[in-house]
Amino acid sequence: MSNNKRVYTFGDKKAEGKADMKNLLGGKGANLAEMNLIGVPVPPGFTITTDVCTEYNQLGQEKVVELLKPEVEAAIKNIESIMGTSFGSNENPCLVSVRSGARVSMPGMMDTVLNLGMNEDAVEGIIAKTGNERFAWDSYRRFVQMYGDVVLGMKPESKEDIDPFEEILEEVKEARGVQNDNQLEVADLKGLVQKFKDAVKKQTGQDFPVDPWDQLWGSVMAVFDSWQNDRAVYYRTMHQIPEEWGTAVNVQAMVFGNMGNDSGTGVAFTRDAATGEDIFNGEYLIDAQGEDVVAGVRTPQQITKEGSLRWAKLAGVSEEERASEYPSLEELMPDVYKELDQTQTNLENHYKDMQDIEFTIQDGKLWMLQTRNGKRTAASMVKIAMDLLRDGMIDEKTALLRQEPAKLDELLHPVFDKGAMSRGTVIAKGLPASPGAATGQAVFFADEADKYPESILVRIETSPEDLEGMNIAKGILTARGGMTSHAAVVARGMGKCCVSGAGEVKINYRERTMTVSGRVIKEGDWISLDGTGGVVYDGKIDTIDPELSGDFASVMELAEKHTKMDVRTNADAPADAQKARDFGAKGIGLTRTEHMFFEGERIIAMREMILASNETERRKALEKLLPYQREDFEGILEAMQGYGVTIRLLDPPLHEFVPHDEANQKVMADEMGISVDAIKSLVDDLHEFNPMLGHRGCRLGNTYPEITEMQARAIIEAAVNLKKKGIDAHPEIMVPLIGTVQEFKLQDEIIRSTAEKVFEEKGTTCDYQVGTMIEIPRAALTAEEIAKHAEFFSFGTNDLTQMGFGYSRDDAGKFLPIYIKKGILKVDPFQSIDQEGIGQLVDIGTTKGRSTNKDLKVGICGEHGGDPSSVEFCYKVGMNYVSCSPFRVPIARLAAAQASIKYER
Ligand code: PEP
Ligand code: MG
Repeated sequence: MSNNKRVYTFGDKKAEGKADMKNLLGGKGANLAEMNLIGVPVPPGFTITTDVCTEYNQLGQEKVVELLKPEVEAAIKNIESIMGTSFGSNENPCLVSVRSGARVSMPGMMDTVLNLGMNEDAVEGIIAKTGNERFAWDSYRRFVQMYGDVVLGMKPESKEDIDPFEEILEEVKEARGVQNDNQLEVADLKGLVQKFKDAVKKQTGQDFPVDPWDQLWGSVMAVFDSWQNDRAVYYRTMHQIPEEWGTAVNVQAMVFGNMGNDSGTGVAFTRDAATGEDIFNGEYLIDAQGEDVVAGVRTPQQITKEGSLRWAKLAGVSEEERASEYPSLEELMPDVYKELDQTQTNLENHYKDMQDIEFTIQDGKLWMLQTRNGKRTAASMVKIAMDLLRDGMIDEKTALLRQEPAKLDELLHPVFDKGAMSRGTVIAKGLPASPGAATGQAVFFADEADKYPESILVRIETSPEDLEGMNIAKGILTARGGMTSHAAVVARGMGKCCVSGAGEVKINYRERTMTVSGRVIKEGDWISLDGTGGVVYDGKIDTIDPELSGDFASVMELAEKHTKMDVRTNADAPADAQKARDFGAKGIGLTRTEHMFFEGERIIAMREMILASNETERRKALEKLLPYQREDFEGILEAMQGYGVTIRLLDPPLHEFVPHDEANQKVMADEMGISVDAIKSLVDDLHEFNPMLGHRGCRLGNTYPEITEMQARAIIEAAVNLKKKGIDAHPEIMVPLIGTVQEFKLQDEIIRSTAEKVFEEKGTTCDYQVGTMIEIPRAALTAEEIAKHAEFFSFGTNDLTQMGFGYSRDDAGKFLPIYIKKGILKVDPFQSIDQEGIGQLVDIGTTKGRSTNKDLKVGICGEHGGDPSSVEFCYKVGMNYVSCSPFRVPIARLAAAQASIKYER
């Protein structure tokens, strides 16, 4: 690495870097270079590469300064010659800014130092040069403040304290009886500089550095250090940004927005970042430096007149006041505005995307300090891409690649009003298990969810018994459980808002209360859940319905046109199947039949079946279940007519279905004509130490073949009945949790012989397939044997992850967050497939399966089927489809289309 070029200069319409060098120069550095190349006025400067950040972390400060010195000195000379100033000179000082800039923008996550180069001599030089004493001292006090904070670590001593410099500033303003910083006079500013320096000495024991070179190296190293600060680390974890990327450092000649009434600074967007409308918009302040606009100390003014009028209306400001106190830049400095407007148009045309820009006006001259692709809402993301496509600026594939699949979620669920949310009181945080927003009265038992018209079901965790209550409740909050917990999976399936694993919430079922940091929420109290952010609020927060605009549909049409992989849905009820179909699902990848046993009468018959002491009794109970199942299957097969519907045989351990409470045990005792004690002991017999690895999946069907028989019969009868009505049904019967080919073969035989019987009875046949889940590592490793008998594979990556990692799905919430924080894992493997490890099992299973059965249909039905990066992985492995919950269908379709564009297959 040691011979590499470490510093890239730019200035005066020349640059050593360019826009496509983001990995090396960071987003900001690459775009500063590019702006020079296309003739936009940018103060000269240089970028120290992201590789140097990595070197710094490996070699330390001293070595890195030594390596950088010759190049940085040359680059400073370049700034000096363009600006006609001199770094470290007392007469004609060159002041610079030092800013971070990673590959992707991490707004506000790292640090900036402005006005570097200031000291007691330089301030006099600036006064002599500009004749503007106030400006010179204002710049100096800002520098001491920023350098003190960023480089010397002058932070508040405890979280109750305010910033030490702000405290001094407030004292001075109070003593002078003024409100705004810009009302302070030269003497005040001089006094502030001294007070700030004294505070630095007192808190850090160090004198404030005078030598500009010491200041420069201190700032550069501080920016590298800021890559590791808590905020930056957190942001990286949240957005899955690798630590090894590092940040670049940009050093640039200062231009001053605080030189008086002909100067100013602002930020703007070339289009509306919230709605996507093609309206240039932004804010500026006269006589101010960059951070003032965002700091909110003074009210920023609008750049365009149209925006200003709109703002005044919303803020209740009269036209007279607006025009005199808050005029737009367009009105105040028409020539500068014209140049800015032309520049924003040029930049958007050049980058072919909405730009977020920063500028400074010094003495009536416009300088651009930054341009980047602007962050935007989902609505804006969709609209801007489609508008650019219609205008011929980008092609269809680019429009598709511009979409962030996960963001589409925002468009599909009811959402909280943003204003209402910012005013709300946060009481707890958990996992964003199922997006959306819900407000309701707290209930602690599923069967009491209908106690209030709008309820939030609060549980330590949920179980299949809670299904109905979960469906009634507006939202679900659990104290335990991760992203594939029962609550999370079911809520996503229902498109219902859910926050899971909110560990700080202590639930007392007996008292019907939940307690969070001393605050007690009783049954009937209002709470609100933000399932997109995993946040719990006190009280009611207003929601608004999402708008599915025409552009959303157009993006989906484009996805359909370019995709080479289908998307199915996981659905257990006809209404869910229909919803998914409306979102573009082509079939069902997983129907969990166990979810169908909990409603009303069915559970009694189900329990009878489980508690039966011999085959005859069990068959009797199964007889009762058959019509219910057949009816369910007819419903979903009809909703998905024309497409394949994968129906999985019973999977979870039997003890999940039996009554554990006295009242329901009594019901069963009466029903079956035996004592409550006898029921109790039957229930006890079903207890397992490790139910996830116990008597579940095909182990049930292989020990009680009559269960498989009943379910196969219900499926085939449903299909035949529909066929008679002219409905095109394609059931695919799926055996869960096989580890050996023999387990599959026995089930396959039962299913096929049952089908033959039904065909004979009904005097007609129907299409059907028999296949299996691949969710046990052994099944993946022996796939070539299994595929000789199975017509399709569906990867159950929830269990495959559980068994491949050895992490219990239900208990991993206790350690996964810590693992991620410590960097042991990059992401939750239950959310996004672990491509390195578990992915190998998927790849091996697919390749081996197809080696003996080239027509083998392969899909995925674990939760990963709706996760964009996992969808891309599934495409690369060669799957025929992915399957996910209805509300994630559009996301998966988009991710599938993007993968198809990115990778040929
Ligand atoms: C799986 O294991 O990935 C799967 C889809 O099955 P379940 O979540 O029902 O265990
Ligand atoms: Mg499974």
